Amino acid sequence: MKDSQISRKEQIKALTNDPFDVLIIGGGIVGSGIARDAALRGLRTLLVEQADFASGTSSRSSRLLHGGLRYLAQGRIGLVREASHEKMRLSKIAAHLCQPLPFLFPVWKGAGWPLWTLSIGVKVYDLLCGGNNLGKSRTYRPAELLKHLPGLRREGLKGGTSHYDALTNDARLVIDTLRSAEAAGASLRNYTSFVAGTASNGTWTCTVRDQLDDEVVEIQARTVINAAGAWSAKIPHSTVRLRLTKGVHVVIDHARLPVSEAVVLPEGDRILFVIPWGERIILGTTDTEYQGDPAAVRTDPDDIDYILGVVNRAFPEARIKPDDVISTWAGVRPLVAPRHENAGAPSDVSRNHEIRMGEPGWFDVAGGKLTTYRLMAEQTIDQVGRHLGAHLPRSRTAELPLSPGPHSGVLPPPVEREVVAESCRQEWVVHLDDLLLRRTSWHFYHANHAEIAERVACWMAELLGWNPERIALELKRYQNAADHPPRLSPATGSRE
Ligand SMILES: Cc1cc2nc3c(=O)[nH]c(=O)nc-3n(C[C@H](O)[C@H](O)[C@H](O)COP(=O)(O)OP(=O)(O)OC[C@H]3O[C@@H](n4cnc5c(N)ncnc54)[C@H](O)[C@@H]3O)c2cc1C
Repeated sequence: MKDSQISRKEQIKALTNDPFDVLIIGGGIVGSGIARDAALRGLRTLLVEQADFASGTSSRSSRLLHGGLRYLAQGRIGLVREASHEKMRLSKIAAHLCQPLPFLFPVWKGAGWPLWTLSIGVKVYDLLCGGNNLGKSRTYRPAELLKHLPGLRREGLKGGTSHYDALTNDARLVIDTLRSAEAAGASLRNYTSFVAGTASNGTWTCTVRDQLDDEVVEIQARTVINAAGAWSAKIPHSTVRLRLTKGVHVVIDHARLPVSEAVVLPEGDRILFVIPWGERIILGTTDTEYQGDPAAVRTDPDDIDYILGVVNRAFPEARIKPDDVISTWAGVRPLVAPRHENAGAPSDVSRNHEIRMGEPGWFDVAGGKLTTYRLMAEQTIDQVGRHLGAHLPRSRTAELPLSPGPHSGVLPPPVEREVVAESCRQEWVVHLDDLLLRRTSWHFYHANHAEIAERVACWMAELLGWNPERIALELKRYQNAADHPPRLSPATGSRE
C-alpha cells in the first residue's frame, strides 16, 4: 500500500486499461462495505474517495453498534430488528471492534419515558436480536440504580432499565473493511474524486481526478454506485434527496464523570449518551437541521452547552464545564428525505436506507446507519448482479471476519513510532490528520494532542521523507481539520 502513495500517477493511469464491473463513489462505511462485498463475489471493483477514507460521517458517529432503542419507541420494529441482527453479526465478524456495554436508562417522573413501557421495551429489544443479545436486559428500582450511578439526580427518580449494545470505532471499521476489500482484490483510492459520468452501450465512462497531483483520467465501468453519504444528492445523475442533520460529541476525562456503564439520558423525546471509552467519556449527541457544506461542519459553543447542560442536570455534582472538554467532533447525518415536507423534528426522520437504480447501471445508496452497512452492501451487490445478468455467488460478508490492522481496536493504540510506521505502510495514510483523527483517534483521546501531533509529524517525516516546510504544512492542515483546534507550539509557526 505504501507503493500506492509513491506512484499514484502510474497507479491511476493503470486503472484506465480495462473496464471495472463496479465503480464506487465514496470511501465511508457504506462504500467500503460495498467494495468488500463486490470484490468477495468476484467483481472487478474500484472505489474512489475524494478525501481520506472515513473522513465524512463515518468517523463522526456515536460509535455504537445498536438496534436503536429510541426507534423502538417510535414503533420502527423492522428497522430495530434489522439493525439488531447486524449488530450481532458485526460482533462476530469484527469482534475486535465490538465492546459490549450495558446501557443504564434512568427514568424520572414526568420525563416522558414511563418505566413500565421501558421495561417491556428492553425485553422486546433482546428478542429482536434473535433472543440472543450481547447481555440480558433488566429493570432497576431507584436504590439499585443509584448503586451503579451514585451521582445521579435522586429527585423524582422512579427507577430505570439496562439493555446491551456495543461500542465500536467507526473509522477503524471503515479501514478494516477496506483492508478486507483490498485483500479480496478491490482497487481503492483515497484523495480521488468522481467528477462526471456518461453512459453508452451498457458502459459508464467516468472522469475521476486525483486530488494530490491533479491528474484527471477516464475510467470505464459497467455499473456506478453512488455511496457519497451527505454529498450523494450533489453527484451528477443522483436521484437522492436528503435531509441533513448535525450531531456533536464531546470527550471528557473519565475522572470527571466516573461511570463504568453507559448511561442513556432522556431529553424530551430525544436521548443523549454517556459512554465510557477507556480513560475517557464520550457525551452526545445533538440533532439539529444542517444546510451547509458537509465538509465544513463544526461544533459550536451552543452545542457543547446543550450537551453539558443535559449531563449536569442528570449528575448535578459533576459540574462539568467547557474547560473540561478534551476534544469534540461534529458530523452530518445523511438521512433520506421524507416524502412529506412536514416531516417533524430532525430526530423523527427515519434511519432507513434506500437502494435505487435511477438509470441503467447507476445505483444510488442512501441513508442507513453504521450498524447496517454490511446489509446495505449485500443488498446493493445483489441488485448489481441482477442488473449485470450475472449469477454471482451469495454474499459471504456475514460470516467472513474482517482483516484487522495490527493496532486496530475500540481504544486507541499506544502513541508509538511502530504504530505510525505500520499505519503509513499499510493503511493509505497521506496526511498527518489521517493518522491522528482516523487511523488512531489519538487526537480525540489525549488531552496533550498538540504535543503528540508534533511528535508524530517528526516520525512521519522520517518515514515519508517530509522536509521542515512539509511538516509545518501538515501541522497547519491538522489544526484546520480538527474540530476544537489543538494549540500547537510557537516553534511550528502554527499557533492561533
Ligand atoms: C452524530 C452522528 C451519530 C451517529 N451515530 C451512529 C451510531 O452510533 N451508530 C450507527 O450505526 N450509526 C450512527 N450514525 C450514522 C452513521 O454514522 C452514518 O449512517 C454513516 O457513517 C454514513 O456512512 P456513509 O458511507 O453513507 O457516508 P460518509 O461516511 O460520509 O461517506 C461518504 C464519502 O463520500 C465521499 N465523497 C463525496 N463526494 C465524492 C466524490 N465526488 N468523489 C469521491 N468521493 C466522494 C465523502 O468524502 C465521504 O467520505 C451517526 C451519524 C451521526 C452524524
